[in-house]
Amino acid sequence: MRDFVFETQMPRVVFGTGALQHLPRELDALGATRALVLSTPGQIALAQRAAELLGPKAPGLFAQAAMHVPVEVARAACDEARRLGADCAIAIGGGSTTGLGKAIALESGLPVIAVPTTYAGSEMTTVYGLTEAGAKKTGRDPRVLPRTVIYDPELSLGLPFGMTVVSMLNAIAHAAEGLYASDANPVIDLMAEEGIRLGAIVLPALQRDPRDVEARGEALVAAWLCGTVMGSITVGLHHKLCHTLGGSFGLPHAETHTVVLPQALAYNAPAAPQALRRIAAALGTPTAPGGVFDLAARHGAATSLAAIGMREVDLDRAADLAVQTPYPNPRPLERGAVRELLQRAWEGTRPD
Ligand code: NAD
Repeated sequence: MRDFVFETQMPRVVFGTGALQHLPRELDALGATRALVLSTPGQIALAQRAAELLGPKAPGLFAQAAMHVPVEVARAACDEARRLGADCAIAIGGGSTTGLGKAIALESGLPVIAVPTTYAGSEMTTVYGLTEAGAKKTGRDPRVLPRTVIYDPELSLGLPFGMTVVSMLNAIAHAAEGLYASDANPVIDLMAEEGIRLGAIVLPALQRDPRDVEARGEALVAAWLCGTVMGSITVGLHHKLCHTLGGSFGLPHAETHTVVLPQALAYNAPAAPQALRRIAAALGTPTAPGGVFDLAARHGAATSLAAIGMREVDLDRAADLAVQTPYPNPRPLERGAVRELLQRAWEGTRPD
């Protein structure tokens, strides 16, 4: 039996088909009257819809959110919030947009309402990231946790299936690492198992029909559960590797999680057999690493680092960076074994 400490800090969650309509009510509940709506350039139409719902209570829209929150973008958004006298930020989009909302909260303490349209799960964590001169820094701060999260399955109906798959594998990665985290607890374990189970079963349904609103709803529940797990535990080797590969080699976030997860699980398998059994059971597959690999491959995702833009000559440096600073992981970090893991990930070898 493990010792554990259980403490929760969660946003208010409003879930439902068409739940975006509750945005004015949720803004009022925070006592806010001047919201700055945030999005990427590609989701500006959705951000405009949100702003229209709020009328004069949304005096501004900042649609320049970008992957990994470049500091220049964060500064520009903070300036805009100050100029408008904003008392709330509404982040509508994927993890990049949520990340921009968090950057504003970190600087100004403004409350954030997150309206996620992918499965990245950032809305449930106190983790923030900022990229300056090509280097990504992350940290934890309770101020950045959104106060309210609105999950509306209608808003992800148009998420392309390819992005749907890798985003869900990103979610599953949070839950998988939760099951062997040193600071997990029985409640988090349940959330992790259910998040993985739901994530795995919705992908075939969404492959058949990406506009299946029921399945989109279940996918958001999976994202919520998996994000909550990540927000509650200390992540290990898998997230560290993805952070290194994304931050230092520019690899795409969710795609990198998809490729690395089976290999990281195989690395940790000897040291975390019980967690691996639970992941496999949730996936409904004989083993966890093979099950995750097949889930990605079956739904058309890339399964090698080579296919997502990593150069083989950079693997040595990636291995060095990944073991540079110690962090908790079930199996000790051995540079040679991590280098082998990266080779298999680069080649896309299916683990057992
Ligand atoms: P993203 O937010 O970068 O989105 C990718 C693209 O898809 C964007 O152009 C976006 O506008 C578009 N998009 C989003 N939803 C869409 C939809 N429903 N339909 C059509 N297009 C849509 O990608 P992401 O994977 O959600 O987030 C990745 C970022 O989030 C990374 O920077 C990562 O570090 C961060 N993240 C942070 C945490 C945390 O806890 N801090 C957790 C997970 C991810």
